[in-house]
Amino acid sequence: MYIPDEVLTVINILEKNDHNAYLVGGCVRDMLLGLKPKDFDICTSARPEKVLELFPGSIPTGIKHGTVTVIIDDLPVEITTFRIESDYTDHRRPDKVLFSDSLTEDLKRRDFTVNAIAYHPVEGIIDPFNGIRDLKDKIIRTVGNPGERFGEDALRMLRAIRLQACYGFSIDNDTFSAIRALSKNIGAISRERILEELNRILLASYPEAFKNLLKTKLLNYIFPIPISETADLTSLKNLPEELTTRWSGLLWLTGVRDAEAIRAICSGLKMSNKLKNEILKISMLLNTRLPRNQFTIRRTLSIVGPESFARAISIMKILKLNKNNLLEIEKASSQIISEKHCLSLSNLAVNGGDLVKSGFKPGKDLGIILNTLFICVLQNPDLNQKDILIQFADIINQKMGKI
Ligand code: ATP
Ligand code: MG
Repeated sequence: MYIPDEVLTVINILEKNDHNAYLVGGCVRDMLLGLKPKDFDICTSARPEKVLELFPGSIPTGIKHGTVTVIIDDLPVEITTFRIESDYTDHRRPDKVLFSDSLTEDLKRRDFTVNAIAYHPVEGIIDPFNGIRDLKDKIIRTVGNPGERFGEDALRMLRAIRLQACYGFSIDNDTFSAIRALSKNIGAISRERILEELNRILLASYPEAFKNLLKTKLLNYIFPIPISETADLTSLKNLPEELTTRWSGLLWLTGVRDAEAIRAICSGLKMSNKLKNEILKISMLLNTRLPRNQFTIRRTLSIVGPESFARAISIMKILKLNKNNLLEIEKASSQIISEKHCLSLSNLAVNGGDLVKSGFKPGKDLGIILNTLFICVLQNPDLNQKDILIQFADIINQKMGKI
């Protein structure tokens, strides 16, 4: 297994000071799967204050839970003291955290067997809960009784489906049944954390695992509207790994097409306005007839922006939505963009200042004139020249005077 020297140094320093230290969690799981770990977590018998003392400059990132982050040569390494967790009365956090001297106790409080494997550079693998067997069999199974473990922390139910989405594993039957039985508890988890997990599921290599949010009924307590369990999500993985695209594809495939429903789902999850608006724009395009001529393509591009337009087209192609002339429309829009046609008021060859300089009175009529010029330019991009537009502005102004 490849372990960076910086990480080995941390383990060495802890051991030289008479503490035990092991690699644990996602990095061990990923290394055993032959994948490059995203980060390295170390668990240790050293108490957090000792870790802070041994590594000057380390950051007490989660000191209450015993976590200290050490940054060596730009590599952040999380060091967490062996823990036992007490009762969880609120389904999301332990009532108190107790530090321990036992690696096995620490592994026992971890969520899934595949996440409860420790590795030591000399001792090798320590795997009291058969995580390796489950890794080989590609199974997600809780450490201990699934009902109890999900009862302690409801987020684990989403983590199970997220792991499935990342690795394409299946969920052990008892673990799955427990999620179904306890799905209601997901209400105890903050919307932000739920959104983070959903985003990760959608961006993973096997996003069709989202289906298990339906099958376990978890989604009933996450989305404000009911979603059909029969939705076929197999083609989700063919969409580009981009969040707004995957969300819009998911909503389409699950039959959520109404803007109000989409808004309610996005707002319920406390998505940023940026993410929500982008999903709304793409979904709007998926749900309406596509623009047919150069003018309407330009107008649509000006309303939704070239990026959302391209994302919507890619969804239509990949999900094989029944849209006429898709390829021609895609070609026309690419041409419009590459020829840099004016697609926003700010790219108009004249602005309010230019009009005032040419003798127009400042005021709200100027806005109307500029908008009218913009429509003219959307119809014919060749008109986007200062002298032509000033002449047009004159005509519009005279007509407005008559009205
Ligand atoms: P990745 O970092 O790739 O998302 P990870 O498994 O490292 O995956 P983290 O959230 O970084 O996930 O957690 C590190 C380890 O802490 C996990 O592997 C698991 O052993 C343990 N863990 C994390 N969250 C929980 C939880 N809610 N309940 C029990 N154990 C947990
Ligand atoms: Mg991790």
